[in-house]
Order: sequence, then structure tokens, then C-alpha cells
Amino acid sequence: MRSHSWGAEADVPCACGAVLRWGVGQFVQDGELGWDGESWCPACDGGGCLGFGFDEAPAWVRGPVLERYGPVRVRLVDPAAGRGAALRVLRRALPGTTLAHAVALAELLAGAGLPGTPAEAGWLCGLLAEQGLAAETVPALEPEALGTGTGTGTGTRKAVGTAPGPEADAAAAAWPWPPHA
Ligand SMILES: [Zn+2]
Repeated sequence: MRSHSWGAEADVPCACGAVLRWGVGQFVQDGELGWDGESWCPACDGGGCLGFGFDEAPAWVRGPVLERYGPVRVRLVDPAAGRGAALRVLRRALPGTTLAHAVALAELLAGAGLPGTPAEAGWLCGLLAEQGLAAETVPALEPEALGTGTGTGTGTRKAVGTAPGPEADAAAAAWPWPPHA
């Protein structure tokens, strides 16, 4: 069974005055990244399907998932060998993304890591693996760990032309998925 899901719940006011519970989630199934959501209210027996799709997950799905599981990053195990192939994977995986933006994303994959939810990271790792590219999921950098001068990690960064500083790291950490240009 090639399926893995990440679900979360959120409570919103129901029209009946009670609490409407939302169950939302992202999943990876046979190489596809999908999302869905449903609601139910025990008080009035209300609720139903909120939506589903295999496109970009809406904020009301992504938000609770991120809140529960936290953001992660995907990065190539061997950035030097896989940059060009990773770019091709990204362009196929994210139709509508400009070449320049895909290049920027590939740079993230080869550097600090491309941020996303665990579902998005797992999906991308799978696509990369299909092309023989080893990728790993690592925890997202804590915002408070950026730019505080603790020195961890900053000494090992490779220069990539634009000389990203702590500010660039912070921006990358907050980059929404999928990051279309
Ligand atoms: Zn209700």
C-alpha cells in the first residue's frame, strides 16, 4: 500500500451554535500529493465533505497540518551530483512554476533545504528517489535560531552567488508550498 497520510483537526463554530469539528489532511498515494477535508457536528448532525483535490492544498488544510506536525525541509544528500536532475524533477512536479523559480527551489534543495509539510516533503522525496536522487527530510530551522548569532550552521554554508545571510534563511523557512513564482 503506497499511501501515507497526515491528518489534523480544527474546531470552528457551527451554525447551530455548537462546535463544528474539521478533519483535514494531506496524503501521498501512488506518487500523488493530495488533500481533503470533512466536517461534522455531533449536536446537529451537520457537516460533510469540505473539499478534496490533488492540487495545492488550501490554507485551511495546510495550516492545521503544519500546526500539528510542524514544517520540515527536504534536501539532497549529495547536492553536487543531483542539482540538475533535481531541477528536472521540480519542473515536472510543479507545473506552472517559472524556470527561474524552479532553479531557486533546486538551490534550496541543494542547500538549506526546501521547506514544506511532512506530506509535501515525503511526496518530493519519493519523486526524487524515482530519479535515483537520495534526499532526506530534516527538521525546519526554528525562527528564533536564525540570525541570533549562535553560529550553528552558518560556518558551513556554501556560497551560492547571492550570499544569503540569516535574513534569506528566515525567508526560506517561511516560503509557502508549492512556491510558485
Ligand atoms: Zn451543529
